[in-house]
Amino acid sequence: MSCSAAIGPPQWLAKPDFQAVIDALVAAGHRVVGPRVAAGAIVLDDVACVADLPAGWLDDQDGGSYRLRRDEAAGCFDHVVGPHSLKNFLFPAREPVATFIRDGAGWREQPLVPDPAPLAVLGVRGCDLAALAIQDAVFLRADVADSTYRGRRAGLFIVAVNCRRAAATCFCHSMQCGPAAGPGFDLAVTEIDDRFAIEAGTTKGAALLAAVATRATLTPCTPADTAAVRDVPQALGRWMHSRQAMPGAAAPRSLDTTDIRDLLFGNLEHPHWAAIADRCLACGNCTLVCPTCFCHSVEDVPDLSGDRATLERRWASCFTLDHAHMHGGGPRPTTASRYRQWLTHKLAGWIDQFGTSGCTGCGRCITWCPVGIDLTAEVAAIRAADARP
Ligand code: SF4
Ligand code: SF4
Repeated sequence: MSCSAAIGPPQWLAKPDFQAVIDALVAAGHRVVGPRVAAGAIVLDDVACVADLPAGWLDDQDGGSYRLRRDEAAGCFDHVVGPHSLKNFLFPAREPVATFIRDGAGWREQPLVPDPAPLAVLGVRGCDLAALAIQDAVFLRADVADSTYRGRRAGLFIVAVNCRRAAATCFCHSMQCGPAAGPGFDLAVTEIDDRFAIEAGTTKGAALLAAVATRATLTPCTPADTAAVRDVPQALGRWMHSRQAMPGAAAPRSLDTTDIRDLLFGNLEHPHWAAIADRCLACGNCTLVCPTCFCHSVEDVPDLSGDRATLERRWASCFTLDHAHMHGGGPRPTTASRYRQWLTHKLAGWIDQFGTSGCTGCGRCITWCPVGIDLTAEVAAIRAADARP
């Protein structure tokens, strides 16, 4: 993707003046969330000032491995994606969908407590913008829109980042989802030296930039500046396609998506599924960190008094034995069948269902798999021994 999602030319903003963006979002009534260092990782949490951003930190990621390290030269957004994504906020892991309290001989439904403020998220990557579009397709269907998701989505303000660094687990370039921020952002920033180039992608973003201009100095980029700004993610994309290691950076992964739907559906009995199952713990971590996975269950949660009951929606995983349980048992009794279900849905069935891949190349499922199972390597192994007639 290119930076053509912008509706105006970029403008320079000194890094300390990024505070004006945060302040303008707060003044507009938003809860502002962005990347922060916590518990040995970069997570999404509340951000009050520029100093909260993880300047000086880089993340080294690989199969089953995530480590932060100090690098004084690292910018505010030189880290890559952590375990959190927009999914954690728009479709949280647990939330009530209905609460009932005893009322005489019957029950009365209590209104749900709305979010205190619309959300603004800083530092959203191209892969996660693409994941948001995928979750929108699921939760904003015209016939069965999810009202809670719809409310949060309507108030969401996105400040995207054009990546200038990739982890070894990133393969957004293979999925055409990055490293440039694609459509869907309100503002996008590109970090260059001690400045940000900031640009609007929506009229909402342009209005916020106008508010920023009352608090800080915005300087228009020259055509040469604009070309340099555009080249930041494009240069990263060229390097990712080259698959060359650089000093201090392992080569990123890639996924050959040629004919991938038919490749996977044509190899449902491939022996490699059993080889994966020998390593897979069926823990479901991959589905939990994936920004596009949307499966959930709804469970009754009565309180001990018996006077109150909540219907709670929780993330579910196709790796659990009782997922899609039906009369007579679950349909996928083996780990091999459950991994095959996950991968074939993500990379093949999703295309039939939604018209796109269910994978944006963020690499989280590789990093956070405790045994380092890597879908790019698994697909390559099946492709290398394609058993189709
Ligand atoms: S399948 Fe893995 S790489 Fe693809 S979007 Fe989900 S977590 Fe990211
Ligand atoms: S692939 Fe990895 S993360 Fe996913 S269920 Fe298996 S062991 Fe867990």
